[in-house]
Amino acid sequence: METTTNKFVADVMLGRLARWLRLIGCDVYYDSTGEDSALLSRALAEDRVLLSADHTLVRRAGERGYLVISDNFRKQLAQIVVHFGIEPNLDSDICPDCNGNLRDVPKPSVRADVPEYTYLTHDRFRLCSECGKIFWQGSHRELAEKELKKILANIETSG
Ligand SMILES: [Zn+2]
Repeated sequence: METTTNKFVADVMLGRLARWLRLIGCDVYYDSTGEDSALLSRALAEDRVLLSADHTLVRRAGERGYLVISDNFRKQLAQIVVHFGIEPNLDSDICPDCNGNLRDVPKPSVRADVPEYTYLTHDRFRLCSECGKIFWQGSHRELAEKELKKILANIETSG
């Protein structure tokens, strides 16, 4: 399938990949308890590509299925970025935890909900509309960006 998309369903084995895809701006449905048939119908109903390392499931998905080859999440991510022509967006507004939407919220509104040190040292806070989690630019994010740059640099060198 030679189409560009950033809408996916990740099968139950691909939780880590799902998180990373969300961090670069992809819309990834993931349910760790999802049955194969439920994931399949979700992919069809919402026009998503079903990512799986399970040959049988990918075959069942037909045009909607895509086989993830490696069991290393870095290589999985590289495979998908290249195959689907994804432009990584490091300022993704998709919640890595639940695939909800993140929106900027005024700093004072999160005062009671984040550690004091975090409050004092950050200015931009974003809230997930689905799970209610608050995100800020922090060490986790910087690590993720570093990791991502490494992965993307590898794609270029390996062709
Ligand atoms: Zn969320």
